Amino acid sequence: MKCPICTSQTSSFVDPKPQITYHACCSCGYTFKAPEHHHDLPTQKSRYDLHQNDPDDPGYRAYFQRFLDYILPRVPVGGRALDFGCGASGLLASMLTESGYTADRYDPIYYPDSAYASQGYDLIVSTEVFEHLDDPLTILRHVTERLTPTGHLALQTQFAPDTREAFLDWYYRLDPTHIGFFTPRTFAVMGEHLGLQIVGEDGANKVVMARD
Ligand SMILES: [Zn+2]
Repeated sequence: MKCPICTSQTSSFVDPKPQITYHACCSCGYTFKAPEHHHDLPTQKSRYDLHQNDPDDPGYRAYFQRFLDYILPRVPVGGRALDFGCGASGLLASMLTESGYTADRYDPIYYPDSAYASQGYDLIVSTEVFEHLDDPLTILRHVTERLTPTGHLALQTQFAPDTREAFLDWYYRLDPTHIGFFTPRTFAVMGEHLGLQIVGEDGANKVVMARD
């Protein structure tokens, strides 16, 4: 199977515990579950409903604060922001408001208000979204088209371990709704397709991009 991001050839391997086939691209580092392991939206929703986070939980707020502490020094603060794939929570959008943005949010399951699609945004954030997507390049293109010319994109998804052994020992792959796994190189290659460059990545789970 070819890599959906860079069209290089992938190699496949099987996770022996939950019998799941993965395809891994040796060029851009994208690793994804075979399509038969992808789920439709209602199935995904039943899974997401199990772990909705309480916005009053200080731990949940601290979790988003760590994200903002990394990204805000790397982007112009102020203007219009979008939390793309917010889930059921408005917490990150309200924290962006507290940080000086006018913040909108969108989620295809929990907050399907498509008004964002006719807006331009100075900052689009998307946390723990890209690992759920079966066509991440198309979605990245979709959000990039909603950036202002000087806009920034800030994403959070756990970067895949370097080795196959470490990958098969990695908790993050076990969530059945996690179907695609990225490295900073994967984001760099997607950025090349879309005229974006990486302006910051933390080597763990955060990447900030802007137009070239
Ligand atoms: Zn690739």
